[in-house]
Amino acid sequence: MEDKPARRRLVLVPASAQGHISPMMQLAKALHLKGFSITIAQTKFNYFNPSDDFTDFQFITIPESLPESDFENLRPVLFLLKLNKECQESFKDCLGQLLLQQSNEISGVIYDEYMYFAGAVAKEFNLPNVIFSTTNATAFVCRSVFEELDANNVLAPLKDSKGKQDELVPGLHPLRIKDLPTSKIASLDKILELYKNTVDKGTASSVIINTSSCLESSSLSWLQQEGLDIPVYPIGPLHMVASTSTSLFEENKSCIEWLNKQKQDSVIFVSLGSLALIDINEAIETALGLDNSNQHFLWVIRPGSIRGSEWIEHLPEEFSKMVSGRGYVVKWAPQKEVLAHPAVGGFWSHCGWNSTLESIGEGVPMICRPFSADQNVNARYLECVWRIGIQVEGELDRGVVERAVKRLMVEEEGDEMRKRAVSLKEKLRASVRSGGSSHNSLEEFVHFMSTL
Ligand code: UDP
Repeated sequence: MEDKPARRRLVLVPASAQGHISPMMQLAKALHLKGFSITIAQTKFNYFNPSDDFTDFQFITIPESLPESDFENLRPVLFLLKLNKECQESFKDCLGQLLLQQSNEISGVIYDEYMYFAGAVAKEFNLPNVIFSTTNATAFVCRSVFEELDANNVLAPLKDSKGKQDELVPGLHPLRIKDLPTSKIASLDKILELYKNTVDKGTASSVIINTSSCLESSSLSWLQQEGLDIPVYPIGPLHMVASTSTSLFEENKSCIEWLNKQKQDSVIFVSLGSLALIDINEAIETALGLDNSNQHFLWVIRPGSIRGSEWIEHLPEEFSKMVSGRGYVVKWAPQKEVLAHPAVGGFWSHCGWNSTLESIGEGVPMICRPFSADQNVNARYLECVWRIGIQVEGELDRGVVERAVKRLMVEEEGDEMRKRAVSLKEKLRASVRSGGSSHNSLEEFVHFMSTL
């Protein structure tokens, strides 16, 4: 009897955050469906406990000895720089052992762009290694030219709080200097160091990006034709390609029952992702603005996401009245299900890339309140390129919140955005269907891996 051919194995290395783990697991599932065996190599930080969805996968832990306090206090930029140094040797041991043990041939290593140590190690073993960008193509372009922008003094306004950050970045229209992916809690030097490593394609054989060409054709063309000399595969939105359950937190599904009682397009969903923090004052002004807008709202307030509070104990007493009237608050929601619900007519978001893709994927227009990194880029594109978002900038007070919510939920301007969002949703859905650009790109990637 002939032996069955061994499945080729891919080793995937996600970064330790909800917004990175979810798309990596979606990618893993998509590749598993294409016939690859999958090993997930993760660190202890935000360890993803596999659900029944992943029984065929192998999970291994990359040993390291960084304290949890580093994860809390240094993330993202300084923590990532440290983690990459720390993991290089231990991942070498992990991969070495896998190569010895595996009856399946290892075809390559796919690593989150922020886990670049994995690319260097794969290279040492002569294994094909693939960068996986969980952010969008435009943010990848920004990181690729960051050093050049710095050398040309374009970033100077970011070094000085009074600098003119409203000016457009040459060559990156419509991004302004303040829309570039930066972080208020890390120095520009450290950000430059990190970005240099994330876009170092010297070792990579290709790049996968969780985007679709219908969203970012010019950024993708630049990466494919000028920026990178390796193949680029836009195969997103991955949550539409392979749906999986990947939540690190417990989802409160009672909000779906509450949504079932609301009218079509009448609810604004408010959620700032898994990492963003706000001050108590901003939380109070948001609550009062939502109340004054007279709209129904579903608000995710993650425990610890209001600085100095465990949850909502410091919000004013009127808050509970408000919530029992027009609002509903949960600690964590089944976000994709919420956005797909007919009652949801708008999304107040920090514009993380997953949230952005999930919202566009359901045709829901957004109010954009970005905090850092690629969120700024996404917000700018939502407002100025796809024209399905309203960006709220500067200090937040109740008047600003009320105005933005009314513009999106009540006024004609919001209806126009909703129509554009629905049309973009159709394009996204077409791109992942058979014959669509993301679908074809995934096929090409699978073929590319089999030729290496
Ligand atoms: N999310 C969720 N429930 C919530 C809030 C967020 O499931 O109550 C998910 C959301 O669907 C998205 C991810 O968490 O997939 C957040 O990723 P994103 O890139 O938007 O932001 P980040 O958390 O990385 O800042």
